[in-house]
Amino acid sequence: MIKFLDLHKINLQYESAFQEKFRSFLDKGWYILGEEVQAFEKQFAQYCGTNYCIGVGNGLDALVLIFKGYIELGKLQKGDEVIVAANTYIASILAILQADLVPVLVEPNAKTFNIDPKEVEKAITTKTKAILAVHLYGQLADMETINAIAKKNNILVIEDAAQAQGAVMSVQFQFADSELPSSFSGNLGHAAGFSFYPGKNLGALGDAGAITTNDDALAKVLFSLRNYGSEVKYHNELAGVNSRLDEIQAAFLSVKLPHLDQENAIRRQIAKRYLSEIKNSKIQLPFYDYSENHIFHLFVIQTEKRDELQQYLLENGIQTQIHYPIPPHQQKALPQLHHLSFPITEKIHKEILSLPISPVLTAEEITIIITVLNQY
Ligand SMILES: *Cc1c(COP(=O)(O)O)cnc(C)c1O
Repeated sequence: MIKFLDLHKINLQYESAFQEKFRSFLDKGWYILGEEVQAFEKQFAQYCGTNYCIGVGNGLDALVLIFKGYIELGKLQKGDEVIVAANTYIASILAILQADLVPVLVEPNAKTFNIDPKEVEKAITTKTKAILAVHLYGQLADMETINAIAKKNNILVIEDAAQAQGAVMSVQFQFADSELPSSFSGNLGHAAGFSFYPGKNLGALGDAGAITTNDDALAKVLFSLRNYGSEVKYHNELAGVNSRLDEIQAAFLSVKLPHLDQENAIRRQIAKRYLSEIKNSKIQLPFYDYSENHIFHLFVIQTEKRDELQQYLLENGIQTQIHYPIPPHQQKALPQLHHLSFPITEKIHKEILSLPISPVLTAEEITIIITVLNQY
């Protein structure tokens, strides 16, 4: 059986470094917000090219806290509208709702699966105060156009970079309000939320997340909000939450971060093989511009009889997954969105299938996957 994602094998590569980290963690006896969190925050900010990284408990909290931080700063208000792609993972929508903001869903571009800037422009009202740009499946959204729209309308751009650690914009990118020339995901808007859920390209050995930003005021509020709204212990300035990046997860992430570019490069190599060697008129391959703007968190193909193809692959020993089988506006949990209709999104959810694309797949396994697909 070719597994969809062999996390054990991925993490086995770093086993001895993890053990050393765990040993020193035990020896130090410091478990919450210690040297490891600080070191990882510094390392990840440097990697993304941002002034700040704030470690938090998970990716959902990262997004919720960005919104809550802007509310504290008076840049957002309860009831403000946030534009987001309708085909995203439900966490993006839940984050907006948990901050008492209003998600305004728009169709994605059918080719890239990412938010369609033309739809964003159409959806802007006087209540629109932010765009949540999700880099879905690891491919950067069209940030140049989105930032231009945001600047024109004076609204915030927040990246949901949960699936895009290390994706780089291919053109030199000058962010609207800053002179920083860095073009990494996490530095392509006003603030970005990351998840280090174990299955992400940079995955912890448990839940973990982070926020990146260049905004001094936002960073200050977020360092406080994630820790009960307190900077000095037992002095609470804000009604915060408990969402701190775990000390031990930060230590593990520091081990893995230096290898992220290499692992992303391997994923791109696998994607290139799939793109050039899968030849089957029943299967539509994903769009890729052969730049570094895609880290192939997922390799998502499209086919009319998706369930049949998934069953066929399983019978041939290949595990696949669907990201995602139900769009957020049709989820039971979100009845307030049930009246909406998004034909492109709904078609995507019926036809997509994610092939295995982890950096520990062997060349033989990739060959088998291609051969089996070509025989379908
Ligand atoms: C994984 C993910 C999240 C949430 O991350 P968690 O760490 O699971 O909370 C948010 N948005 C997107 C697009 C994701 O893929």
